[in-house]
Amino acid sequence: MFIPLLNVHWYTDIMKRQVRTKVIHTENCFSGSALVFGLVFFMACFFVPATGSAINRTDYQRFQAEIIDHRHRLNRAFKKIRRAETRYIIVHTSELGLSATLRVVSEGKRFSSGHSTPGGHANYVVARNGDTYRILDKQFRADHAGLSMWQGRQDISSVSIGIELVGYHSAPLTDQQYRSVAMLIDILQNVYSLDDKAVLTHSQVAFGRPNPWFPKNHRGRKRCAKNFDRSRAGLGPGFAFDPDVRAERLLSDPYLADLFYSPKPAVAARVPATGPVSNLISRKNSAWAIAGEDYSSKSTVYILPNGRKLTGDQIDDTVGWHLLPVNTRVLLNQETQTEKILDPGSPVKIITDRMTAWSHAGPAYGFDSTIYFLPSGRVYTGSFISDWDDLPQNTRLIVGYQGPFFITGEKTAYGIAGQKFKDRATVYFLPPGHVKTGDKITDFSSLPRGSRIYLPLDNLVPG
Ligand SMILES: [Zn+2]
Repeated sequence: MFIPLLNVHWYTDIMKRQVRTKVIHTENCFSGSALVFGLVFFMACFFVPATGSAINRTDYQRFQAEIIDHRHRLNRAFKKIRRAETRYIIVHTSELGLSATLRVVSEGKRFSSGHSTPGGHANYVVARNGDTYRILDKQFRADHAGLSMWQGRQDISSVSIGIELVGYHSAPLTDQQYRSVAMLIDILQNVYSLDDKAVLTHSQVAFGRPNPWFPKNHRGRKRCAKNFDRSRAGLGPGFAFDPDVRAERLLSDPYLADLFYSPKPAVAARVPATGPVSNLISRKNSAWAIAGEDYSSKSTVYILPNGRKLTGDQIDDTVGWHLLPVNTRVLLNQETQTEKILDPGSPVKIITDRMTAWSHAGPAYGFDSTIYFLPSGRVYTGSFISDWDDLPQNTRLIVGYQGPFFITGEKTAYGIAGQKFKDRATVYFLPPGHVKTGDKITDFSSLPRGSRIYLPLDNLVPG
């Protein structure tokens, strides 16, 4: 174990040195304002031979050239302010799918109270397929870190670049994201002379005001990017301790402290991509552990196992914090509840701007027993889906199902599903593209040709 890991770090270092001077040039090539100099450098870039590294100079050039310019979508009300200094790069997870992430960081957050923000919540967004978007020029202050502190310095947004990774802090990030964010971070480190320790997650730098659990200012306000694996992003170890907790400026959040700073072997910064990371409530995974200070926020949505949806501010008066059922799903950043809310008890869920397959199904999004009905009429099982952000909006899905069982002249709905053929839990796919539950079908004698049934896995299927 030890030697291969050493090799990885050595290799990464060499790779970084090889591209160090080069990268500064390419940055000038594509974002410099002096057109003539830019053109000269641009030409020069393409005649530098590629190295043999896993990520070589050509990859860096291509990566920079392919950054998608999203700056025109920035809210006009956002005030651009140049940062006086750049000390850190802060990594976030957006807790949303791609389209909602892009909209929120560019145009702003809209709360159901009517309050909104003017956008500019990140400098870059890295999608799950590795596509990288420029939201706001890197020299401008993005409003991304909120109440934050590192090494005694507050308002980290004013001294840092913000990168949003599309995804959830309770789910693995993709290889393509790590590859892109590794290049992006390396480029920015070179531009601003930042070492690997200057790369931090939002969960590391956010802090909260006193609350019932913490009598003083404390860590744990955010869980953002707690799943970010530094080594997969080509980074060496980060801080071995929290400088603000050590200096007693903040109280420690035991959950995050264990994740980031507990003594571990040489690759301490490595956070497992899988493991006890979940957005499902369990005995060990409380609302606080999942959401941090956002646990009681109006923008945090709790989906109970029976399908009931409640916002964080409603829990106290309805279910009560200690009676939240196990397997309640917790979703962050659901600022406005604009999407069509189907019958909450229906097993048929719908993918919208804010509700990805992960929001609905969690890790089961990729299971064979999760069935997707695309707007085109195509039907896929989860194992066919490479990532939850690939699915179009208005795709419907069911979780924990088997099938299809085709209805034919010999095999009626009753013949397939027995007494349960009219149940809400029994799902029908009716060509060309309708998905209905048994209780919504009135005439079973005229189902279209090719109709099929999906049954919950806990149902017995007659032979
Ligand atoms: Zn964040």
